[in-house]
Amino acid sequence: MTDTFPTSSPTFGRIDLHTHSNASDGTLTPAELAEMAVRRGVSVLALTDHDTTDGLAICAAACAGRDLEFIPGIELSTDVGDHEVHILGYFVNPRSERLASALENLREQRVDRTRRIVDKLRQLGLDISWERVRELAGPGSIGRPHIARAMIERGDVSSVSEAFDRYIGAGRPGFVPRTSKRPEEAVGLLADIGAVPVLAHPFSTGDVLGILAALIPMGLRGMEVHYGEYSIGQRAELAAIAARHGLIPTGGSDYHGPSFKEGRELGSVDVPLDTVALLRKVITA
Ligand code: AMP
Ligand code: ZN
Ligand code: FE
Ligand code: FE
Repeated sequence: MTDTFPTSSPTFGRIDLHTHSNASDGTLTPAELAEMAVRRGVSVLALTDHDTTDGLAICAAACAGRDLEFIPGIELSTDVGDHEVHILGYFVNPRSERLASALENLREQRVDRTRRIVDKLRQLGLDISWERVRELAGPGSIGRPHIARAMIERGDVSSVSEAFDRYIGAGRPGFVPRTSKRPEEAVGLLADIGAVPVLAHPFSTGDVLGILAALIPMGLRGMEVHYGEYSIGQRAELAAIAARHGLIPTGGSDYHGPSFKEGRELGSVDVPLDTVALLRKVITA
């Protein structure tokens, strides 16, 4: 995939607007992520950790002075029923007190929910240690992937995907729903603090048009169209929906570290070069 990237195309460049570091559930530190971006020829990098801005300052510092533009971002996790609705926010100000207090709240809910999932798994007879899950998350935004890693260590499952499919994904025996924000609130919060709210991996919502109808009035400005796990046909379908609703089509790899999943290597998704200018126009308008 990487080797065939059309570097000579006037409309595509190495832009990755969806990445995670170990400030949430990625495996690279924010500085290592910047290094990896340089190594892979990425020219614009957004760090969008789940429910935290803790990695932004270090990543920005690591990008400074390199040939690498940095966009501070975030990905807020919400769900509706059994479906995940994730909202990306671009050009977030980590010093916003409103954002900080919302994130503090989400952090507490993450700890509570992750702990309840561990309890449920223990009731199912899996001897997962809460202390080990905490250790694996470190100071970062804790979540199900850290439980999955603890399960792999114990040999309960052989991959993160297997942990989700068998135990901790929606509808599985260890699943506990989130009690956090609704997607409307997440979009409203990001719009209020001057960030650009974008719907991540729209097919995860189970109802793209329904969710857009709820989120556009709250200030949604874009939608992820170029997503590595979506087929060319799905991307075309999303591009048409975005155009119809006046949403900026964005994209990225949803990077979580090397060899995470097929289609998820840093800089591996073709994102049009003008995306960054379109996002920037929203905050400077
Ligand atoms: P949480 O934030 O605790 O709800 O965990 C959800 C996160 O786990 C998502 O944002 C993804 O980063 C990751 N995830 C979800 N499903 C899978 C899967 N099937 N395989 C690997 N990672 C997944
Ligand atoms: Zn993640
Ligand atoms: Fe996501
Ligand atoms: Fe993500």
